[in-house]
Amino acid sequence: MSVIEDVVATFRDAVGHEPDGVFAAPGRVNLIGEHTDHNEGHVLPFAIDRHCRVAAGRRADDVVTVRSAQEPGDAVSTTLEALPRARGWSAYALGTLWALRDAGLPGRHGWDLVVAGDVPLGAGLSSSAALECAVALAVAELSGAAFDRATLARAGRRAENDVVGAPVGIMDQAASLLCRDGAALLLDCRTLQGEDVALGLDEAGLVTLVVDTRVRHDLADGGYADRRAACVAAADALGVPALRDATPDMLGRLDGRLRRRARHVVTEQARVHRVVELLRTQRPADVGPELTASHASLRDDFAVSVPALDAVVEAVLEHGALGARLVGGGFGGSALVLAPTTTADSIGEAVRRRAADDGHPEPVVREVHPAGGARREPWAPGARH
Ligand code: ADP
Ligand code: MG
Repeated sequence: MSVIEDVVATFRDAVGHEPDGVFAAPGRVNLIGEHTDHNEGHVLPFAIDRHCRVAAGRRADDVVTVRSAQEPGDAVSTTLEALPRARGWSAYALGTLWALRDAGLPGRHGWDLVVAGDVPLGAGLSSSAALECAVALAVAELSGAAFDRATLARAGRRAENDVVGAPVGIMDQAASLLCRDGAALLLDCRTLQGEDVALGLDEAGLVTLVVDTRVRHDLADGGYADRRAACVAAADALGVPALRDATPDMLGRLDGRLRRRARHVVTEQARVHRVVELLRTQRPADVGPELTASHASLRDDFAVSVPALDAVVEAVLEHGALGARLVGGGFGGSALVLAPTTTADSIGEAVRRRAADDGHPEPVVREVHPAGGARREPWAPGARH
């Protein structure tokens, strides 16, 4: 059975009739631009070939139900009025419906939603945005709403900020909804303008791997808040609206710790633009050293790495990778690796061996390939598939 038939069959069994449509939204990985988003700078994510699928059907009453193959247990059932009080995993889906209704989604009826996905949860590939964006596209299209994709992305972010309670930016939702197949999205986090940048990885015989260290430190949330505050303090001291506006020659005006934090952001902004230039001139292999430089800056200046991440970067570079860096907020989580396709297997082995030698948890290595943004699946009720 295909993944589409699978989610349709689950819907039919659980709800008792066919869904009105099936929608899919991808996870993402950020090639470069780490901790630049909260400084109003640039990021360069691409959507990946792992998706969250949602089979959706309208109801006659005001009840909303949601089930997920990734969260065994009973369906979560609520009403339109109670959507903003959703908790747990269902808050990502129900919060998105709430935010879209707040943005003017037509209709006063409830929904049945059945979720099934292959974006691993909490592995740095943004399963949360994949879920939000699949729900947003489903209810918007099935309601005949004329929302553009930026509006859908904002609804997903609002769900995460206001209902789940996670202070995330809009990168993940923008990537899931706006990326084109084979291209990264150069997103200006100040204006939310996006531009496609072709990756050309396949053509160059390159692949990206995401290594989940399965290490996460308790201080991650506090550390993230501390780094954000340091960036605001540095921008204030320099008299600029955000560190995106700081230039290298200004850094000497800051002292010790703030200078290092700001230097990461200023040099990372420059790396994003260099990577875009390299991709636009068909030199994807030369992106590798920029990734490794990003890691060094995150480790030494921004101080958000941990030994398990440094060990991954070291091990992959010793076994043929072109570059690697930690991705996400830091203090654990995943690393992104750019490598010749032919070296992918031996890199995976090297990373697992090194973790065993160092006494770290066994990492999970996944190949990820660029994919297009969220879409309606080719499935219609009553048609044969
Ligand atoms: P990431 O987005 O990096 O995968 P997050 O912590 O932001 O990690 O989001 C993961 C959470 O999102 C999960 O713990 C779960 O609550 C929710 N989630 C994501 N995808 C699904 C899904 N397919 N089914 C149920 N819950 C999901
Ligand atoms: Mg997330």
